Amino acid sequence: MQGQRKQAINEKSSQTAGLTVTKEQDFSEWYNQIVEKAELADYAPVHGFMTIRPNGYAIWEAIQKNFDEVIKARGVKNAYFPLLIPESFFKKEQEHAEGFTPEVAWVEKDRQETVERLAIRPTSETIMYDAYSKWIRSWRDLPLRINQWCNIVRWEIKMTKLFLRTREFLWQEGHNVFATPEEAEKDALEMLQEYKKLDEELLAIPVILGVKTEKEKFPGAVNTYAVEAFMPDGKALQMGTTHFLGQNFAKAFGIKFLNKKGEFEFGWQNSWGFSTRLIGGLIMTHSDNKGLVIPPKIAFNKIVIVPILFTDSKEKVLKKARELEKALLEFNPIIDDRENLSPGFKYGEWELKGIPLRIEIGPKDLEKESIMLVRRDTGEKKPVKIPEVKKEVLKSLEEMQSSLFKKAKAFLDSSIVEASTMAELKKIIEGKKMVLAHFCETGECEDNIKAETTAGTRCIPFNQKPSSGKCIRCGKPSKRKILFGKSY
Ligand SMILES: [Zn+2]
Repeated sequence: MQGQRKQAINEKSSQTAGLTVTKEQDFSEWYNQIVEKAELADYAPVHGFMTIRPNGYAIWEAIQKNFDEVIKARGVKNAYFPLLIPESFFKKEQEHAEGFTPEVAWVEKDRQETVERLAIRPTSETIMYDAYSKWIRSWRDLPLRINQWCNIVRWEIKMTKLFLRTREFLWQEGHNVFATPEEAEKDALEMLQEYKKLDEELLAIPVILGVKTEKEKFPGAVNTYAVEAFMPDGKALQMGTTHFLGQNFAKAFGIKFLNKKGEFEFGWQNSWGFSTRLIGGLIMTHSDNKGLVIPPKIAFNKIVIVPILFTDSKEKVLKKARELEKALLEFNPIIDDRENLSPGFKYGEWELKGIPLRIEIGPKDLEKESIMLVRRDTGEKKPVKIPEVKKEVLKSLEEMQSSLFKKAKAFLDSSIVEASTMAELKKIIEGKKMVLAHFCETGECEDNIKAETTAGTRCIPFNQKPSSGKCIRCGKPSKRKILFGKSY
């Protein structure tokens, strides 16, 4: 009796634990509540910063582990470069300096000691390339492939959005140097394909690959390539970029090598990166009104086992649940044997936290030597005989992974609409979709379209069928289409 009362009280006080808005009602608040209530991240004492909680960091670790293997197989080595960059380094590459200066945070301590101002890295090209200029001597030192996993700070003024817009975030930045432009550009494009694989196969987020316009490319780059995803609230999210840097930075930093003919030549470079923004994309793409949904491949705890406890059968049921836990150890199962909470309450809590599969086991199941297997994304329930559990778990995890991708892919495909007039473009953007249209690729038209519709250019998608048309804004001839959309 006392136990029952305790249960009622606990559940009542925990009712606030569920989501109080739907994805359809208020997307932004829905997102914030999932991040908070699934315990992924928290606001920090300093405005614009975030604390990544263990549940969120586990997702980052899974991404890191996966991608680290990919880059190491390509001959990339990890290293670590300093957080602080002398101001003079920034000024060496003009476009780069102009592009980043507005959002650089400066360290003011010990000004007299350090003589010049020190920047907290907003990106590490300059500090890394200064080191490269000392390390690279001959063609034998090339290619040089180095990546670092680190934090960066960009002092943005817009409102904070955990994982999506914070002043500090975690990322990887790879910086490779080659002897020829062909190798450097080919490598940048291959890295883009690696990003696509990571996004689609691990995170189950479909992406579009393309090249950025002159206006949108990375400051100091010759070409910027991007993987773009599309979120359910009608905004595009950049999931990673790779840049062909030509010799711009090599000339600015003196990265020279002795070629096979015995002449000095500047190196050819690329760089590539993605950040903890991917976690924001993951949450928005798959989650629902019960809470977090994440693809099984990225989930650390893939199963939660909930034993249904009654006084007379408790021991038997718990024993079986623990046997299952052992048998399924490779999926890092959680066993929820808390006695003061009802099964229904526990189901809700683990759904909120996004555990991909739930196993329910009670006395009636035991009589039939079976359990109930429940999928997080569809809610589908399936009785499974105990000897078959492991096989069925594997099957369900695979099915869930591919069905999340298919669902997101269908959404992406239906969200790209072709337009040939500005009126059409405006209407499609207002309808929360992206527009594919002919475009003259001038900064002037890009600015005008942005001012008139709030949609920017996302990328010029690869693999377009050859077509000729007229720029949607100025009517000048155009040979390829570009993707417009609002963005994060
Ligand atoms: Zn135009």
